Amino acid sequence: MKVIEHIANAKKPLISLEIIPPKRGGNILQIYKAIESILPYAPPFINVTSHSAEVMWEEMKDGTFRRIVKRKSPGTFGLCAAIKYKYNIDPVPHLLCAGFTREETEDALIELNYLGVENLLAIRGDIKYEKPIPDGRSVNRYALDLVKQITDMNNGKYLDDLIDVQPTDFCVGVAAYPEKHFESPNLAFDIDVLKKKQDAGAHYAICQMFFNNAHYYNYVQRARKAGITIPIIPGLKIITSKSQVMRLPKAFHIEIPEELVNAILNASSDKEAKEIGIQWAYKQAVDLLENGVNILHFYIMQNTETFLEVINRLKKDYSL
Ligand code: FAD
Repeated sequence: MKVIEHIANAKKPLISLEIIPPKRGGNILQIYKAIESILPYAPPFINVTSHSAEVMWEEMKDGTFRRIVKRKSPGTFGLCAAIKYKYNIDPVPHLLCAGFTREETEDALIELNYLGVENLLAIRGDIKYEKPIPDGRSVNRYALDLVKQITDMNNGKYLDDLIDVQPTDFCVGVAAYPEKHFESPNLAFDIDVLKKKQDAGAHYAICQMFFNNAHYYNYVQRARKAGITIPIIPGLKIITSKSQVMRLPKAFHIEIPEELVNAILNASSDKEAKEIGIQWAYKQAVDLLENGVNILHFYIMQNTETFLEVINRLKKDYSL
C-alpha cells in the first residue's frame, strides 16, 4: 500500500521508522531481529536509507591521484525486498541523486517496480565527491529533478524512446526541514523548494529530526500558507548518549533545546542520559498527537531498545 493510503486510512496514530542497512559485510539477521521486536506495533512502512560512496583521493609520487572508496553501503533494495516479502510491511527505499546517473536511477526504478515496491523517498544526498559522469549520461542535481524523473516514469515517459514501456505507479516522498536545510538562505526559500517538489509530483514529505515541536508547527503552518497540501510527517530521534548532543547538530544542522542539552550533559551516567532522551521524545510525541498529528516517524538506525521504550509508554494512552 502507498504511504499516503496508509495515512488516509489510519484509524489510530501510525508509527513509522527509518533504519539503516547493515555495514558492508554485515548480516541481515541483525536487522530482522530489530524488525521483529517492533512487529507488535504494526509499522505501516519502514524507510531504508541509502548512501552514496565516500571517496578520498590519494596523491601518488608521480603527481597523479588515486581514488579510494572509504565507505560504501549498498543493500538498500535487498533489505526492502526482505521487509516486504518476509514481514509484509511496505518498505520505502531512499533514492539519491548524488553518486548516480539518471540512467542508473531509471534502472533502479525499474527493478524496484519489478519487486513490487510502491513507495520511495527521493532525496539529493550529501555531495561528498563528484562522481565522473560518462559521456552521454546525465545526473539529477536536486531532489526536485529526481521527483520529475519518477513522475515522468509514472506517466510512462522513460529516458529513451523505448518501445513496450509500462508506466510505474510510485508514491513519492521527499525531505522537509522545519529548521531549514543548511544550504538554503532562509526558511521561505526552503518552503518554496518543497512546493516545487509537490508541484512536480511528490505525494508526501518527511521531516528532518527536530527536538522542539515549535519548529514543526511553524513549518507546517507556513507550508500550508504557501499552498503545500501534502502530508508533512514529523521526524523524531531519541537521544541515547551525551556524545549525540554534540554530534547531531553538526551532522544534521538542527538545534537541541538548552533544557535538553543541560539535562543530558549533567546526567550522572549513560543510563540516566538515555532515560532523559526517552522522556524528551515521549513528551514530543504526546504533544504532537495531542495537536492532531496522526503519524510519527522515528529515526532508529538499528537501535530499537529506546524506541520500544517510548512506544510502550505511549501505547497505554494512545492505543498504538
Ligand atoms: P534538495 O531538495 O535538492 O535540496 C538541497 C538544497 O538545495 C536545499 O538547500 C535547497 O533549498 C536547495 N535547492 C533545491 N532545489 C533548488 C533549486 N532548483 N535551485 C537552487 N537551490 C535549490 N541522505 C543520505 O545520504 N541518505 C539518506 O538515506 C537520507 N535520508 C534522508 C531522509 C530524510 C527524511 C531527510 C530529511 C534527509 C535525508 N538525507 C539522507 C539527507 C539529505 O540527503 C540531505 O539533507 C541533502 O543535503 C539534501 O537533500 P534534499 O533531498 O533535501 O535536497
